[in-house]
Amino acid sequence: MSQPVLEARAVSKHFPVRTGTGRTAVVRAVEDADLVLRPGRIVALVGESGSGKTTLARLLARFYPPTTGEIRLRGEPVQGKDRAYYRDVQLIFQDPFGSLNPLHRVRYNLDRALRLHHGIRAKAERERRMVELLERVSLTPAEQYLDKFPHELSGGQRQRVVIARALAVEPKVLLGDEPISMLDVSIRLEMLNLLDKLRTEDGLALLYITHDIASARYLCDDIVVMYAGRMVEGGPKEDVIAAPQHPYTKLLIESSPDPERGLDDRDALFDEAADDLGEPPSLIDPPAGCQFHPRCPFALDVCRTEVPPRTELPNGQWTHCWLHQEGRAGDLTAAGAAR
Ligand code: SF4
Repeated sequence: MSQPVLEARAVSKHFPVRTGTGRTAVVRAVEDADLVLRPGRIVALVGESGSGKTTLARLLARFYPPTTGEIRLRGEPVQGKDRAYYRDVQLIFQDPFGSLNPLHRVRYNLDRALRLHHGIRAKAERERRMVELLERVSLTPAEQYLDKFPHELSGGQRQRVVIARALAVEPKVLLGDEPISMLDVSIRLEMLNLLDKLRTEDGLALLYITHDIASARYLCDDIVVMYAGRMVEGGPKEDVIAAPQHPYTKLLIESSPDPERGLDDRDALFDEAADDLGEPPSLIDPPAGCQFHPRCPFALDVCRTEVPPRTELPNGQWTHCWLHQEGRAGDLTAAGAAR
């Protein structure tokens, strides 16, 4: 397997906040996260709203430093502002409508990236590269799109421009924060195919953040599941989906509609199913032990007091669940449903 290009090692992010009573509290948005991204591979980061997925993506994009732990690029810890890092690691936001300045044409967005990151002075060369970039994201004829303003484009076309702008700096890693969730259902599959093409052609490492297990299964090699700021399970996608080793993952998979029905709007279905088990915990004052224990049908006494350690399985799958440490993993597989 290729060497990691980007890693999070034991990364936590805590945000101080003022509560309604005026006291200062701490939001534990991400706790002790490990993640490895390798060239040419796609990892899906899956979890419900507020699970810490976006905070982790922003930590990886160096929007802010971790409270503890470290981010490594090509094995080296990243410190301070490193211009090369901001070129190598690009973040694509969920909202294609807010990602482009409405006052600037497509040409300006791409041209600026080429000038700033590559210092290309020759206008003709920048023009050639801009056409090439738009063709790579299937906006053709490219010349027709260069002079358009964002409001003249559909959501899917805007997201393609955002991706083209990210590609302009020749990144090594793309972080996609729910990149298809605000797009029309009819073009989501096209966008997933585009991301897949880019990882194949450029050997990009891609982190795909989503609510949606079905799209993760379609696109990704590996799946990592987050719950209440912690990673609870991960591994090769087929293994995680066929035999989830954590009760929360089992819930996610059971709440996901049949992929044969296509990529319809599953976000609401996901949240509805999760709501059946009650509210996710507060990240200001999370439950002791396993954070899933108030909602878990399999909870043991130890789950209420001790954070479950990581258990590695021979197939590359791993999980943080006391069932495995206590010789009770069969409880999960024996249960017809986690709910
Ligand atoms: Fe459930 Fe305990 Fe496993 Fe947490 S550690 S998921 S509470 S069985």
